[in-house]
Amino acid sequence: MRYLIDSKDRLVSLNEEWVAFATTNSGQGVAAESDVIGRRIWDFFSSEELKSVYRWIFQKVRKTEQPFSLPFRCDSPSMRRMMSLEVEHQGNGYLAITTRLDQSISRSPLSLLDVNASRTAESIDICSMCRRVNLGHNHWVEAEDIIHLPEISRTGRFPSFNERVCHDCSSQVEDLPYMVSLSGNVDKGEESPLIVFLHGETQGDNLFRLQAPPRLVSSHKLLDLPPFILLSVLKHKPGPWDIEKVMTALRETLDLYAIDRRRIYITGISSGGMAVWKLITQYPDVFAAAVPVAANANVYMSSPAAGIKPPVWATLGGADPVVREKTFLNGMKLLKLNRWDVKWTIFDGQNHDCWTATYLNQDIWEWLFAQKKANPASLI
Ligand SMILES: [Zn+2]
Repeated sequence: MRYLIDSKDRLVSLNEEWVAFATTNSGQGVAAESDVIGRRIWDFFSSEELKSVYRWIFQKVRKTEQPFSLPFRCDSPSMRRMMSLEVEHQGNGYLAITTRLDQSISRSPLSLLDVNASRTAESIDICSMCRRVNLGHNHWVEAEDIIHLPEISRTGRFPSFNERVCHDCSSQVEDLPYMVSLSGNVDKGEESPLIVFLHGETQGDNLFRLQAPPRLVSSHKLLDLPPFILLSVLKHKPGPWDIEKVMTALRETLDLYAIDRRRIYITGISSGGMAVWKLITQYPDVFAAAVPVAANANVYMSSPAAGIKPPVWATLGGADPVVREKTFLNGMKLLKLNRWDVKWTIFDGQNHDCWTATYLNQDIWEWLFAQKKANPASLI
């Protein structure tokens, strides 16, 4: 399959195989070539995370003018299909995108992958790129293996799929700057709140293994969370966060999604938590509220511009060997004196990992989603 897009990601030309591909990918019938020419390619993706990966590949190829290729799977129930994607620059921002079938291996048909199979209300993650399925705790397995799940043998029905991108696949795009995910209950026609998430040092490689927002997107039913869009920014080098890169990711995300600009929240772990303090101090009129986790505040306490101080709920493990409770509390008290609307929770006996306790705490989420700015953020 080969197709061409212009500098604005609009389809310029395509071959016949495209229609079959777009229909499979978007789950909606795409009748004919004339229906798709001129439309943005993003209309034909059902996975926001896969869009994040493709967008970055497109940006990279346009910038470097070097071709980029990537393996992926496009299985049918009775066939493992190993494919490759190649993106080539054609000048003036035009890109030629080719997908090829490299190898196919037949297997006994898997009802799990049959679009007509009966589905339960439960959902599980499937990686849009390698078609492996997440058995939980980011244990991704081949779809053949999922037949052994007890509820499937019991009911004979299959869970529905959440299209995600697993860690192994996202790390093939080494410098991917961020991933956008939508919680399963988002209504694309409505504005949703946005959560910006900044991971801790070295956690960028383990994003989905952490008990943190990227995991909560698919397991939002564990907690009672309203619909939200998640921007997980990725930092690939050691050292402090570059907050301007976070702001660039935020601007691009606001451009592309229906987001309630009065409800942009930010949370981060450890060095990501320190960056949260920096961001709400330097861009206080952007964020409606913040949850910095396992991070000291005192370094960044200068009074924000215009006296705006987004409300903060900070958390810490009582036995954190990295961030001392005493230093943390001194920071909190100074913030109070500075008239910040700040509250905090110390989780007794927890070490540096207090994010698990934080992100599984329904009260913190309820508090966060209840915060709303009087005026929409004006950062563009
Ligand atoms: Zn994958």
